[in-house]
Amino acid sequence: MQTDPAHPPPSRAPDDHGVLDALVMGAGMSGLCMAVELRRAGLHRFVVLEQSAGLGGTWWDNRYPGAQVDVPAPLYSFSFAPNPHWQRRFAAAPEIQAYMQDVAARFGLHPHLRLRTRLTEARFDEASALWHIGTVCDGRMALLRARFFVCSTGPLSQPRWPDIPGLQDFAGLRLHSARWPDAQGLQGLRVGLIGTGSTAAQLVPPVAAQAAHLSVFQRTANWVLPRVDRPYTPVDRALNALPGWHAAVRTFWYAVLEWGRRGFEDGTAARRQMLRMARSQLRRQVPDATLRQRLQPPYPLGCKRIIYSNDYYPALARPNVALVTDPIERITPAGIRLQDGTEHRLDALVCATGFDVQHSLANLPVTGLRGRTLGRAWQDGPEAHLGLTVAGFPNLFLMLGPNTATGHTSTLLYIEPGARWAVQAMQAVQRRGQRWLAVKSEVQQRFNATLQQRLKGAVWSQCRSWYRADSGRNIAIWPGFTGEYRRAVQAQDFDRDFDFG
Ligand code: NAP
Repeated sequence: MQTDPAHPPPSRAPDDHGVLDALVMGAGMSGLCMAVELRRAGLHRFVVLEQSAGLGGTWWDNRYPGAQVDVPAPLYSFSFAPNPHWQRRFAAAPEIQAYMQDVAARFGLHPHLRLRTRLTEARFDEASALWHIGTVCDGRMALLRARFFVCSTGPLSQPRWPDIPGLQDFAGLRLHSARWPDAQGLQGLRVGLIGTGSTAAQLVPPVAAQAAHLSVFQRTANWVLPRVDRPYTPVDRALNALPGWHAAVRTFWYAVLEWGRRGFEDGTAARRQMLRMARSQLRRQVPDATLRQRLQPPYPLGCKRIIYSNDYYPALARPNVALVTDPIERITPAGIRLQDGTEHRLDALVCATGFDVQHSLANLPVTGLRGRTLGRAWQDGPEAHLGLTVAGFPNLFLMLGPNTATGHTSTLLYIEPGARWAVQAMQAVQRRGQRWLAVKSEVQQRFNATLQQRLKGAVWSQCRSWYRADSGRNIAIWPGFTGEYRRAVQAQDFDRDFDFG
């Protein structure tokens, strides 16, 4: 991509030692989007902290074999930065990484990036109305001050290891899918893989092709729908370079996936169709009736994230792959022991056991008004207003905050309106000659009471998943359509819903 003439790179990096307009934590999709919006608004004094050595967020972390996006790539690109170069409809992780690099270059974001820099503490200083933010980079500590603080780490950033006794005792190679070492192969090894979620479904086929033997330890079987993937041909790419065509393809996929949202409601044609497709795929791809029986999900479709795959079931049916459904008793130095006493001897143990969504943000030492920490505010799980702001935490904005995930479409459709609105909120503070804004506590409470009421009987509340906190409260899902979220974000009324100070 060329540098966008509307967003030339700044002539020099922002001075970290003065007061920054904003500090953005996390250089994933939402951090990049926020950075673009800040530049568009003329707020050039900002930095983006990233603890990893490169940008990409979840796409930097999740570099396990087979990692791919599970929505069509034309919708997994920003509306303001179309990419005519996608190689296939469902892009692989390295392609998405390359896209993000291009966005950063094209919108002049590199001078703002502070890589290998970890946030140690963020505290809202009431006297100056500035966020005081401690950082550490290569062992060097620094204190930055910023008017606005944007947390764009997303819910899926903290790997979760399984709470199985003996995990630390395993003497072989132990891996988590979200921390896959580059070039780590598993050729010729006896591999055990714990988990059968979206990540595992992508990992199983390539690992099965390498390993001498693969045992997949399944606690819960999941719903698997076909992935309507295909390579993009040179003709596709030529057409995708035409702005009108690209926009039409995007609109098409937007509409298809919003139709899929209906699949989460009982009695709809979309749900009937999705159930038909899932059952037919299981029948077609798993001829063995016993294996098929063990792959029957025990919960309603949509309660956990639906898996889109054409090669997961065939990989499970390979002769060198065993699906293990008896419960695990413990991990031993040599492998895994089941409750029935069976021992699985392993050279490598792969944990595709997801992320700690409940605690990842709450564990950060973020302190708002009157010394209140996010950890205390979120004792029963994260809660925000429209996933964007938290009462008692002035000038703090969350990207992909609580209840902004969906099971049906691209997360970028939630990031963009959120980032645009956050910048409008910053401008509202400046325009009014105020120092800070914070959502009113009663507005946040009312919003969440309505949201939880709506989620109560819904499909996402009918099983255990990362969507729900230990208390059972749904902390992840936006239950509506995408347009509804976009409109709700835009309809916020600064006079009615926010305190200024
Ligand atoms: P996940 O959906 O939370 O799945 C974790 C898996 O590990 C589940 O099968 C779970 O079993 C199992 N597990 C956890 N602890 C266990 C234990 N102690 N014993 C046995 N099994 C255990 O995590 P994920 O697959 O990494 O996916 C997380 C999210 O990342 C997805 O929902 C999706 O939003 C995103 N993702 C997206 C893509 C993409 O294509 N864009 C790819 C991968 C992931 P139970 O079901 O029984 O709890």
